[in-house]
Amino acid sequence: MPPMEALSLDLPEFVPGSVWLVGAGPGDPGLLTALALHALRHADVIVYDALVDRRVMALKNASATLDYAGKRGGRPSAQQEDISLRLVRLARQGKRVLRLKGGDPFVFGRGGEEAIALKEAGVPYRVVPGITAAIGGLAYAGIPATHRDVNHSFAFVSGHKTGGVMPAEIDWAALSRAAPTIVVYMAMGHLGDVAQRLIAAGRGADEPAAVVSKATTPEQRVVETTLARAAADADAAKIEAPAMLVVGPAVTLRERIKWFD
Ligand code: SAH
Repeated sequence: MPPMEALSLDLPEFVPGSVWLVGAGPGDPGLLTALALHALRHADVIVYDALVDRRVMALKNASATLDYAGKRGGRPSAQQEDISLRLVRLARQGKRVLRLKGGDPFVFGRGGEEAIALKEAGVPYRVVPGITAAIGGLAYAGIPATHRDVNHSFAFVSGHKTGGVMPAEIDWAALSRAAPTIVVYMAMGHLGDVAQRLIAAGRGADEPAAVVSKATTPEQRVVETTLARAAADADAAKIEAPAMLVVGPAVTLRERIKWFD
């Protein structure tokens, strides 16, 4: 394989003293953007999350130091502040700071908070989008997010909030009416609860659903089920995080489209 430079993409310089807020995609290193790979090759320090795939981390340059920013349950918001301060501090030391997150940094990744902290501290930064778990995971599960005559809209929602509770601000009734395809991130802790809310909001108990775990990795698993059975079936299949729940008629297209597993 030719080195990245041989592709002459004319990528921007990773300037010392700046932070790149980068999405690493859902797992498969082939889904990295050219900018993400460029950042991995040039970073001095990489502040990364638990969700970033090991094979992606292996693409870093040999001299980059690693700084794990994974959150443990309990006090994630205090830690979030710590992470932002750490980014500022490292940048002020003149380092090229790569802040690497699973999926996309602005999709349930708290990248916005870090960008605001950097802006307020006067630290130059760039945001590099990544393939979010729903987009990458649905593609690798053979479930089209939209499909002619099946659905023309989709919604990505979070089933989890800091501290582990269901986000109260989600209007499940409106969501159920508006989006034939619904992908719920971070639902594993309360799959049954999420499904019950969708059913109470008007979605059919026997509506097609799938639980997609470790999407785009060699351990990807897809449990095809229904809304009412999703929690029990995921349990019985011993599905592990990270995983997401996909609900809607597009799920049945997997039978014809699936290619990865
Ligand atoms: N910023 C990330 C999401 C972080 S929230 C993104 O854009 O993808 C973490 C949630 O993402 C997990 O609870 C899970 O629901 C989902 N997720 C992330 N990677 C995944 C994967 N490889 N397979 C399935 N779900 C994944």
